[in-house]
Amino acid sequence: MTSTSPTIAVVGTGTVGAMALWQLARRGIAAVGFDAYAPGHDRGGYGGQTRIFRTAYREGAEYVPLLRRALEGWRTLETETGSTLLTRTGGLTIAPEGHPDLDMVRTCAAAFDLPHEELSPTESMERFPQLPVEPDETVFLDRTAGVLRPEKSVIAAATRAESLGATVHRYCPVQGIEADDHGVRLRTPEGQHRFDRVLLTPGPWATELAQSAALPLEVHQITTMWFQQRRPGEFGLERTPIVLRSGPTAYTSFPAVDGDTVKVSLHSVPRPRIPSAEHITRNPAPELVAAMREAVTRFLPGVHPDPVRVGGYADSFTPDGHAIAGHLPGLPNTTVLTGFSGHGFKMAPVLGEIAADLVVDGTTDHTITHLDPARYATTGEVAG
Ligand SMILES: Cc1cc2nc3c(=O)[nH]c(=O)nc-3n(C[C@H](O)[C@H](O)[C@H](O)COP(=O)(O)OP(=O)(O)OC[C@H]3O[C@@H](n4cnc5c(N)ncnc54)[C@H](O)[C@@H]3O)c2cc1C
Repeated sequence: MTSTSPTIAVVGTGTVGAMALWQLARRGIAAVGFDAYAPGHDRGGYGGQTRIFRTAYREGAEYVPLLRRALEGWRTLETETGSTLLTRTGGLTIAPEGHPDLDMVRTCAAAFDLPHEELSPTESMERFPQLPVEPDETVFLDRTAGVLRPEKSVIAAATRAESLGATVHRYCPVQGIEADDHGVRLRTPEGQHRFDRVLLTPGPWATELAQSAALPLEVHQITTMWFQQRRPGEFGLERTPIVLRSGPTAYTSFPAVDGDTVKVSLHSVPRPRIPSAEHITRNPAPELVAAMREAVTRFLPGVHPDPVRVGGYADSFTPDGHAIAGHLPGLPNTTVLTGFSGHGFKMAPVLGEIAADLVVDGTTDHTITHLDPARYATTGEVAG
């Protein structure tokens, strides 16, 4: 760290916090991370073996430059750590013609010249016979899409940051934060810590932050299930793209990264609101199991429709589905990145870069106006 660098704490070394530590360390700033658990744990936003990467983005074309930069970041992290984190499989958006998700991925592809193909149901089923398509649906293939390994990625970012000088206090929950014009004081079971600045990346534990800063954040559980393939190799990584199906039955599905099981997450069911990620349940409601069975029987006939494994994870959600990244009124020396609303993982490396920009320089060259907290924030005080 140079003598002029601020001392920086990162509260929450999960998806975004670990990447921020890494990006700060690459700039020669040895920040100090705190996590209630440890990088790689499965209690929060990033557990469950796989996450989707894609660039033709149904959530909005404003994300495409961020996603392109994130892709570079994933490859850099792979090179620096000697690990494979992102496997390109291609990704199918399957939707009835006229569906807004289909319109948006086409808009992204046209505006940014993204590598893609459009397939009729017949063409798609010739290429991917394990993924049935209805006659009224269209298939958009995002050739850049793929599968990320989330736990491995968070561990890679955190340990790379540590090897460059960062510190991570594991199993060390931050119980209170006091911020003033001179810096911040963190209270932990290990004692008090003083820093010039703090980055808050609490993910689905953002409830207290939301209350104290009057942010409209809600934590919701997303339940995923794994299904055993009937025939060996049918859903292998080398022949199965990720799927995002939109319409009356909406879900995402993954190739069998373990060689056996296909992970499915149903989107056309309510996602229960929970106080924080501490309240995740791995006992799904019978209605959810029934809806999942029905969807899998119809759209993934090559797997047994009774789940062999159930996972519960959570994320913090904003009303408009876009995250909050920036400074909040009433919280001096504090930068917040949270509210990723179920789609933040793929952007993690660029979010780490943005976090580092904001906490060090107070601003970033990345275009993140859609993430500006000013659209919600009024005033606040930091709580633990
Ligand atoms: C089931 C599911 C599927 C998803 N699928 C995708 C996908 O395919 N593609 C995609 O891009 N995104 C996906 N997402 C969204 C993405 O995973 C999340 O947006 C992202 O992981 C959130 O990152 P985060 O850093 O905000 O939170 P987290 O990664 O959960 O990190 C928060 C960290 O803060 C720590 N912490 C909290 N409070 C404290 C405290 N007081 N003191 C110390 N530490 C604390 C926690 O222990 C945790 O490590 C999915 C989310 C879920 C739940």
